[in-house]
Amino acid sequence: MGTTVFERQAPPASVVAHSLEQTRSGSFWIDDLPASLRPDRAPLRGVETTDLVIVGAGYTGLWTALLAVLRDPGRRVVIVEAARTGWAASGRNGGFCESSLTHGHENGARRWPDEIDTLERLGRQNLDEIEQTVAELGLDVQFERTGQLAPAIEPHQLAWLDEWRAEAAGDPDVEYLDEAAVRASVASPTYLAAIWEKRTCALVHPARLAAELARAAEERGVRIFERSRATGIETPRGGGVSVLTDGGRVDADHAVLATNVFPSLLRRNRLMTVPVYDYALMTEPLTPAQQEAIGWRDRQGIGDMANQFHYYRPSQGQDGQGARILFGGYDALYHYGRRVDPRYENRPDVWAKLASHFFTTFPQLEGLRFSHQWAGAIDSSTQFTAFYGTARDGRVAYASGFTGLGVGSTRFAGQVMLDLLDGTETERTALQMVRRRPLPFPPEPAAAIGIHATRWSMDRADHHEGRRNLLLKTLDALGLGFDS
Ligand SMILES: Cc1cc2nc3c(=O)[nH]c(=O)nc-3n(C[C@H](O)[C@H](O)[C@H](O)COP(=O)(O)OP(=O)(O)OC[C@H]3O[C@@H](n4cnc5c(N)ncnc54)[C@H](O)[C@@H]3O)c2cc1C
Repeated sequence: MGTTVFERQAPPASVVAHSLEQTRSGSFWIDDLPASLRPDRAPLRGVETTDLVIVGAGYTGLWTALLAVLRDPGRRVVIVEAARTGWAASGRNGGFCESSLTHGHENGARRWPDEIDTLERLGRQNLDEIEQTVAELGLDVQFERTGQLAPAIEPHQLAWLDEWRAEAAGDPDVEYLDEAAVRASVASPTYLAAIWEKRTCALVHPARLAAELARAAEERGVRIFERSRATGIETPRGGGVSVLTDGGRVDADHAVLATNVFPSLLRRNRLMTVPVYDYALMTEPLTPAQQEAIGWRDRQGIGDMANQFHYYRPSQGQDGQGARILFGGYDALYHYGRRVDPRYENRPDVWAKLASHFFTTFPQLEGLRFSHQWAGAIDSSTQFTAFYGTARDGRVAYASGFTGLGVGSTRFAGQVMLDLLDGTETERTALQMVRRRPLPFPPEPAAAIGIHATRWSMDRADHHEGRRNLLLKTLDALGLGFDS
């Protein structure tokens, strides 16, 4: 079996141990929110009547609410949130706000070859509109459209870069960087070459994005109730829809389910997603000398090209302090029984592995410490990107299954759900991607066996020059392969 660069060039164990000595558990992004962006909102008590009720105050619910009132300022909108606004995936992600609606070009092109060009165009438009909304509404979310750098870190990945480079020939927003050029840009000895896509990704402060969407929505009349878990949904014969919560009820014309990885209120969606846990670290602020030692002046988001990949990015320095580096990914863990459970978040072994890979990537930063470590559940679907639909005579819409790429595409999902509820036929609602539901996951134990076998195969592929074994090839053929 071959070795990866992270095994060949592992840092001393003492460097890793030192880096994690004072690390606290919890999302850096949420910790970093000023108190003014974390207002305590009251729970729902009694009965509320509204036009649209939304379950869940992550990006999907918040974008849907904001878009609803921007489309129609007279529309009354209520959100019920089980815990706090933006506390879940939306408050703990990497903040890569990508244009792709399909979890990467390759995944989209394989599943929807006839409409991939439209999907790419709509995705680019979605990111442009996010940029516009951030500017027009003055959302303070540290939005920076710096693009995404994809470095090859093993020799076999150079051939993949060449293919990509050939496909992108003539695109002024895609730049190929050879070994010297990429290392001059970001000084990592692991980089062999890279592609920099300059327009397809922006970095945001994830928790600020949720908080600012909530603020902008509330300023336009949306009401958010926190600590209000929806426990059921009823669609009376006479029309309308009622969402029952543990403290009350909301009666509305329409409902949107934006509950992501958590159990759906619709039975038909319970087998459509599984939670896969993803882990991240955040460093302390870098000193000017440390910043100088790594370069990274263009501040791109970075995702390496392995099957099991890392994502990393700089934060914005504040109050005279330097930027920090978020480093996450690689291990994505599924637990038998598909439960979302905070106990799965505590994995010192996974954080230690990430820290080791960090110092392989940036050995010149040895001595730096991590201030935060955390994890979050990713709502994986079998098509690795969101699915959409309506239920109960078109009175309820849902979108879920973003599979770790929802920062940008949740806004598109909000548009789709409003189109569907309004009964408006649009370019979005005509998409096969929107009209067709993917396969559900099988029940246990088949789900756990299949997911573990896939991850094992991906790790093996990374140790064998990227070659995919029979299982991955079979999954590819079934449209279930994961390589984007
Ligand atoms: C560690 C990590 C890193 C990631 N990095 C990236 C990245 O860099 N780029 C990217 O594009 N994506 C990334 N993602 C994915 C991205 O964060 C998600 O796709 C996105 O946040 C999904 O938003 P959401 O609103 O659908 O879900 P969530 O943020 O999970 O919100 C769902 C909300 O619904 C509420 N809810 C659930 N059930 C009920 C109920 N019954 N009643 C009331 N409320 C309920 C929950 O409490 C929660 O607040 C990452 C995810 C993780 C975990």
